[in-house]
Amino acid sequence: MQKRPFVTKQQLDEIVKKYPTPFHLYDEKGIRANVRALQKAFSWNKGFKEYFAVKATPNPYIIKILHEMGCGCDCSSLTELMLSDALGIRGEEVMFSSNATPAKEYVFANRIGALINLDDITHIDFLEKLVGIPETISCRYNPGGVFQISNSIMDNPGDAKYGFTKEQLFEGFRILKEKGAKRFGIHAFLASNTVTNEYYPVLAKTLFETAVELKEQTGVQVSFINLSGGVGIPYRPDQEPNDIYAIGEGVRKVYEEVLVPAGMGDVAIYTELGRFMLGPYGCLVTTAIHEKHTYKEYIGCDACAVNLMRPAMYGAYHHITVMGKEDAPCDHKYDITGSLCENNDKFAIDRMLPKIEIGDLLVIHDTGAHGYSMGYNYNGKLRSAEVLLKEDGSTQLIRRAETPRDYFATFDCFPILKDLDYERVDI
Ligand SMILES: *Cc1c(COP(=O)(O)O)cnc(C)c1O
Repeated sequence: MQKRPFVTKQQLDEIVKKYPTPFHLYDEKGIRANVRALQKAFSWNKGFKEYFAVKATPNPYIIKILHEMGCGCDCSSLTELMLSDALGIRGEEVMFSSNATPAKEYVFANRIGALINLDDITHIDFLEKLVGIPETISCRYNPGGVFQISNSIMDNPGDAKYGFTKEQLFEGFRILKEKGAKRFGIHAFLASNTVTNEYYPVLAKTLFETAVELKEQTGVQVSFINLSGGVGIPYRPDQEPNDIYAIGEGVRKVYEEVLVPAGMGDVAIYTELGRFMLGPYGCLVTTAIHEKHTYKEYIGCDACAVNLMRPAMYGAYHHITVMGKEDAPCDHKYDITGSLCENNDKFAIDRMLPKIEIGDLLVIHDTGAHGYSMGYNYNGKLRSAEVLLKEDGSTQLIRRAETPRDYFATFDCFPILKDLDYERVDI
């Protein structure tokens, strides 16, 4: 299957006149259509709610669009909680799914009334000493071992730092009940970026059966079950995208099989999707600024790994389109690189692409989640802007690019840096 950008060459030529590359561009139309599809797929469940994983794309404009459409926020840090709160998203619209949680993050989460999802049995005491046990509380479950669908191993929860063991989960619920908690939830995140319609249904079955056992053994009736994130996207053109309707239907079937007969047909299903919500609806736009012919053929871009870390960090594949050459033959083999002094700063290695000229615009696909947000400042490189392509075709700057002033801002303890002449570098 061919992967096409959500923006045309003609549109992009206009956009880059206004916003210099590199920048991340987001597709409001695609985002909205995808949210509607998710909600339709789970409309059979009365209490269904998506808590968008803020860490995937922590931009207030994007989160506002999602919130308008009924999504809450899944946060795991102080600043993510602050961002939600600043947008008026608080109370039970916020899920706080953290781990190794600093005290002040629990205090702030409690202050804004967020639903707290505990990562460990020892956090019960930790939380109680800080703010007491809230009436509604959730626990993160880790069944250990490997997470398997049919014969294929999807991930390795037994190696993951997250969650309560099964024994701890049962013990934890008994303790929480004794300490006065009234409403309970369970959560698990057992495999990441799954490109199969089976992940959620298989995970749901595990959680639903656990909820029934919890009721039988502890008398605790779970009110919500949080399937968390992990529904993936097809980064590669040959991957079959997930069908969210098949996923919703698969979860409904196990709900009917496991929860309904146990008298638990009123349990709400929550999700904390990040990648699935935004991944395909963002791209990194960069310009080819150099070509280099040594032992290999290189194209040097004005973006680098600080703008998109996944290829350097995980060797992740991100599809690349050379704008205006969508249908040209891919008869040149390139490494597409950034300018970091790190040899892993390559968006693609040995990638077959059309012949690239200096000045060509490259669209790096699927950067809408875990793209900008994983950025950093290595080599003193600056983070890019974020631009929203709205439904009417107009654009809006939703985050400006960093400037040297931002980079040096944390040195305000060193008077000498106050006198930096920023205008001198304004070229
Ligand atoms: C990262 C994360 C998510 C979102 O994961 P995706 O793979 O982007 O769907 C959800 N919940 C928690 C607790 C996470 O850490």
